[in-house]
Amino acid sequence: MKKSEENLSILKSNKRNNVLSTPCIFFDRDGVVNESPGPGYVESIEDFHIQEGFISALRVVKEYEHHAIIVTNQRGVAREIVAMEEIENMHRFLQKQVKKEGLDILDIFICPHNHGTCSCRKPQPGMLLKAADKHDLDLPNSWMIGDSETDIQAGQQAGCKTIFVGSPSASTEADYSIDGMSQLADFLKTYLPR
Ligand SMILES: [Mg+2]
Repeated sequence: MKKSEENLSILKSNKRNNVLSTPCIFFDRDGVVNESPGPGYVESIEDFHIQEGFISALRVVKEYEHHAIIVTNQRGVAREIVAMEEIENMHRFLQKQVKKEGLDILDIFICPHNHGTCSCRKPQPGMLLKAADKHDLDLPNSWMIGDSETDIQAGQQAGCKTIFVGSPSASTEADYSIDGMSQLADFLKTYLPR
């Protein structure tokens, strides 16, 4: 099956099953959950700094009874710059910090592949569609939040609403745009249905 066909069949099966589905907030990782490493990769847990704005947003996500899932491209794995083990360490640390706040991240999807070798690397929607299939998510009422246009494209291809986090001068096709993660919690309070 071709990559696009694979994604389409997941999307169709999700549509059939979305009777009891729950909306989800999909978060990109670097630059959204944790501080952006700039043009490179977060290579070790010492460089993994969780953003306060993410924790505040997660609090709203819980209050409004949505799921929270992270979808992250980590091509540094395919390029042998970052070890998968180190990424898993970072995510264990993240889950622990989030639990301490009484909050939850339902799942974390990682694409460790190189360009053009998979159906999951954003801008493709593969990770979001797999998440929807696994956790019965209501994609049309879900949101993708990212600081890169590829995040926005992945969200749109999965049929989600999109929020771009970044400089006000950046041009984006996202439904909404905010200047920084410190604004996200208030934004969600305004736009999420109870
Ligand atoms: Mg990012």
